[in-house]
Amino acid sequence: MKAVRYLEPGKLSYQEVDAPTIGPGELLVRVRAALTCGTDVKTFRRGHHLMKPPMAFGHEFAGEVSQVGEGVGGFAEGMSVVAANSAPCNCCFYCERDKRNLCENIVFNWGAFAEYIKVPAPIVQQNVYQIPEGLSYEEAALLEPLACVVLGNQAAGISLGDSVAIAGGGGPIGLMHLQLAMNSGAGQVMVIDLKEHRLEVARSLGATRVIHATREDPVAVVKELTAGRGADVVIETAGVPDVWKMALAMVRKGGTVVMFGGCPAGTQIPLDTGRMHYDELTIKGVFHHTPRTVEKALELLGTGVIKAEPLISGRLPLKDVQGALEMMMRGEVIKMAIIP
Ligand SMILES: [Zn+2]
Ligand SMILES: [Zn+2]
Repeated sequence: MKAVRYLEPGKLSYQEVDAPTIGPGELLVRVRAALTCGTDVKTFRRGHHLMKPPMAFGHEFAGEVSQVGEGVGGFAEGMSVVAANSAPCNCCFYCERDKRNLCENIVFNWGAFAEYIKVPAPIVQQNVYQIPEGLSYEEAALLEPLACVVLGNQAAGISLGDSVAIAGGGGPIGLMHLQLAMNSGAGQVMVIDLKEHRLEVARSLGATRVIHATREDPVAVVKELTAGRGADVVIETAGVPDVWKMALAMVRKGGTVVMFGGCPAGTQIPLDTGRMHYDELTIKGVFHHTPRTVEKALELLGTGVIKAEPLISGRLPLKDVQGALEMMMRGEVIKMAIIP
């Protein structure tokens, strides 16, 4: 089969490889759509602590079951399915404390940028679903990133009428946070980004105010829109230390900042101890997803509460994955669907 492999930072190869073979408990899926993701871009650009190249690449996909492993119940050949990219062990220190996203024995699955992908048994047991009716393969493939955003939304604890600022909010993660914030009853939702076309999408999805970060001072605008106080909740989705600093500067006393975007390894930001203490800031890091948030994400996609279609800027064949990542890197597109 044809597949894209990640060789080293800055280098992918589109090549002929052996199709995966499956064992008991596993599924083989014919990939019908795979999405490019900010994590793929980061990995391509600078490497990722969870990925050891050379390796299979891509992790957001939906497709058709092409082979069912021995002992697997509930799935049949030809069924349309979507799978998350990992599953927890359910018995380690973190799983026992209901932090399945931090599982010490988490099983990851890469290789969505290929004609076929094998789904390991722990994922088959916990994180594979039949695609709800009315959802296309590419829309369904948004399941994994949305499951992460659901976890972030829970951490944000948005209350009715809250003002929410989303920094780096014109990217796919920010646009999902926007939709979830509105569905959580937020009052104002302010989206900050550097690209006009992405802010346009945020506007069309219901942002009450979009802020172009080079044309306006985002901190000043957020304060002006919140009677000088700052936002009740700020969500950082850029994964850039300067944006983390900005996020801290625009939250009100007693407010919550969710650091959703992972920054390059080893980076640090200064912390204003006075603000942290006397202003009672709550700062939360959020990573990955749990089987429960995957389940919720499927429900939100299936019922149309979260709109996937505006986040998919176009379609490209498998051989153009690198080009698709470069388009994302330049901020020209939100997400691209790869159709193998
Ligand atoms: Zn992803
Ligand atoms: Zn575990």
